Amino acid sequence: MSGPSGGSSSGREGGRSLKTRVKTARKRTLSSTLWLQRQLNDPYVAQAKREGFRSRAAYKLIEIDDRFHILRPGMRVVDLGAAPGGWSQVAVKRVGAEEGRGRVVGVDLLPIEPMPGAEFEIMDFHDASAPARLKAWLGGAADAVLSDMAANATGHKKTDHLRIVGLVELAAHFAAEVLAPGGAFLAKVLQGGTEGELLAMLKRDFSAVKHVKPQASRADSSELYVLATGFRGARPAAGEAEG
Ligand code: SAM
Repeated sequence: MSGPSGGSSSGREGGRSLKTRVKTARKRTLSSTLWLQRQLNDPYVAQAKREGFRSRAAYKLIEIDDRFHILRPGMRVVDLGAAPGGWSQVAVKRVGAEEGRGRVVGVDLLPIEPMPGAEFEIMDFHDASAPARLKAWLGGAADAVLSDMAANATGHKKTDHLRIVGLVELAAHFAAEVLAPGGAFLAKVLQGGTEGELLAMLKRDFSAVKHVKPQASRADSSELYVLATGFRGARPAAGEAEG
């Protein structure tokens, strides 16, 4: 029996999930065949399709938020690396942005299909002017800064690690500039989590810092999320008199 995208189903008749195998097509590389096979057999991909979420990633935020209660009605949320919009969909629902409560603003390198309750801009967060532009656009403090940003993998472990660490650092510095006291920061990091200076900065600026691996995050992926809650408030800039 032919499955979606040239897949074919095999396995137990009447079984709960029949495994879908993908035939290697002449123009498909082995890695894209394996990616397609994984997508077709991924229960979160199927669930996202059924429940109208734009990405399987939505379930990572749902799981983390169900456990740690980051998102509350009326909150102003920034979603960095928001495309295609799964996390924003979750944030819109949980802050009540469609009912005119709270606000969800998202940026990405890629364009994002419009979504009721959310505002999107194309932005490269590596761009030196990006944090200031985003801050001006927000026009006030945020209650949560979420970052699921991930640069396309090069396959070179060290390069990929440095690229993702760079993005998390940018996101964390941005969070420290825009969060209201009590605010939360959630960001994708790599296995090993945040270390060194970044971890020290988060521990100084937030009352609690933990690392979370949601079940929806693929077990074979080295991704992990850092969650920092209870923002202590912006530090005075260097040289600024205190008191
Ligand atoms: N959370 C999203 C969702 O639920 O739909 C999925 C995000 S996806 C895993 C990572 C995103 O980070 C990609 O869309 C990518 O374009 C974006 N990204 C990577 N580097 C970026 C950068 N420098 N600036 C803005 N977005 C970036």
